[in-house]
Amino acid sequence: MQIEFKKIPANGIHFETSLSEIRFFGEALKTSKTMVKCTGTMEGNLPLVCDRCAESFMLMVNESVEVFASEGLYEDQEGEELLNVIEFFDGSIDIDTMLQSEIEAFKSDYHYCGQCEQLKGE
Ligand SMILES: [Zn+2]
Repeated sequence: MQIEFKKIPANGIHFETSLSEIRFFGEALKTSKTMVKCTGTMEGNLPLVCDRCAESFMLMVNESVEVFASEGLYEDQEGEELLNVIEFFDGSIDIDTMLQSEIEAFKSDYHYCGQCEQLKGE
């Protein structure tokens, strides 16, 4: 799903997409001339590999996501808090790319299968 930057109103527009078994939906709203804030939820089943026993398992995901889309190059301002920003260079936001990147970021955390999660708690 693609949304053109110029079509995003200041009061927000709904977006929704999915990638395999993960759904991503929420609101995109313009926060400055070249910045759009996307606030949403990522939910569904994500296949992961346990970081402890290397077994693959499915994780039920239900995560709040806040990500900014920048039209063109994003340069963080001095003193500004570091934002989660994805740059787009063709005038529109690709929500699928955004979701893909959020999934990758999520995957890069440590995840344990149900069994290891239990062992950990003992
Ligand atoms: Zn495990």
